[in-house]
Amino acid sequence: MIFGFGRRNKPVDDDDEDEDEDERDYVLFQGALNGETPDLAANAKLVQAGLLETKRLVTDAMDRRAEMIRIEPKGKVAQVAFYIDGIPYPASRLPGPLAMAITQMVKLLSGLDTRERTKPQSGGVRTEFSEKKYLMKVDSAPVQGGGERLIVRIQDQSKVLEKPDDVGFSEDLKSKIREYTSHKNGLLLAAGPPNSGVTTVSVAIVRSVDAYMYSIYSLGDLGGRELAHVTPFETKAGDSLSQTIERAKRKEADVCFVDPIRDAQAAKDAVDSADKCSIIAEFPAADAADAVAKLCKLVGNHELVAERLKLVCSQKFIRVLCEKCKQAYRPNPKLLAKVGLPPETKVLYRPPRFDEDDEEEDGEERKVCKRCAGLGYYGRTAMFEVIDATEGMKKVIKQGGDLQAIRHQARQDKMQSFQSDGLRLVLEGKTSLEELQRAFRS
Ligand SMILES: [Zn+2]
Repeated sequence: MIFGFGRRNKPVDDDDEDEDEDERDYVLFQGALNGETPDLAANAKLVQAGLLETKRLVTDAMDRRAEMIRIEPKGKVAQVAFYIDGIPYPASRLPGPLAMAITQMVKLLSGLDTRERTKPQSGGVRTEFSEKKYLMKVDSAPVQGGGERLIVRIQDQSKVLEKPDDVGFSEDLKSKIREYTSHKNGLLLAAGPPNSGVTTVSVAIVRSVDAYMYSIYSLGDLGGRELAHVTPFETKAGDSLSQTIERAKRKEADVCFVDPIRDAQAAKDAVDSADKCSIIAEFPAADAADAVAKLCKLVGNHELVAERLKLVCSQKFIRVLCEKCKQAYRPNPKLLAKVGLPPETKVLYRPPRFDEDDEEEDGEERKVCKRCAGLGYYGRTAMFEVIDATEGMKKVIKQGGDLQAIRHQARQDKMQSFQSDGLRLVLEGKTSLEELQRAFRS
């Protein structure tokens, strides 16, 4: 179902800022993800008050390549923020009634209950803008003092980065995954906090497996994805993870991709079954070392964890410098020593800096970079931390899997850390030292 009048005329020209609003190309809403058909006739008043404003807001966000919109009621008004590459920027302040109309309109389009305003709801809506498909994932929740907070996550379907190379897996990491899964056993985990991109990493691990050599089954919810060479495997209600893996094994599964491991039972089942096939899963944890320590606690049997756990990788996003406007500079030797970069480093990069002197000299203001809209960054990449089953690490796990001991062993074995991978990106000129510091703070 297609709503409204999003005219598919020429793309908006950057130079033509005074373009008539009516000539604008608006986003099209193409149906709720849950299959509900919003009853626009029964909600005529809401549609009148909120549809056009909703289109404007979402279109603005997409124009600025925001990945998230947040509408937060604050007394009589509501604050709107756009998140671009993970950083919130204030977008506008809306009168309370208008913010409410937009919030309810988005809920209606997402097939949610607009009368329910006291409980959190989640849903989504398919959209199209400038001939590109997007998914909008929507969460509403009541806030103290009345009203609802609305969070809209916008996913550009043409930019779903799930291939190992897109995500930023190194050759070394890919070959480790291929090597471990070639034995058709062992547990491989993507660790991270929920919504941190950890699902993307788990899918990238699956996609690193040699699909021509091994049969890969998905035993979990793929969230609407279709993965080439991965066979969906039907789970039976009431079956444990062990039982499902056992059935998949009878169908010659070499590698099983399972649902995120969220509790002790799932952790025990995954470790128990990792002698039958390779198991790949997402695991909620702060980072890779934390995941190893947590898994040891959940499973209890440290010997078994040491034997079955093969690899844990964890990722943190970092913004990429805009290729159009990044500036080279010569770093001073003290700085290099302080952050741990090689002393022979001749050049690093950072976002453009406009000194007041510059403006006075040529008498005119510097032009803001059009590509990144003056942000200095465009898009994100990932830094990876990897822990794998070295002899030393197995020993640490057998001794109980103490978090500090795991971290110490990872350093001893020179495993890839966020720090080392982040500094590599700085050296390659993909990001700046400031951004690396910001990514570690947040
Ligand atoms: Zn730029």
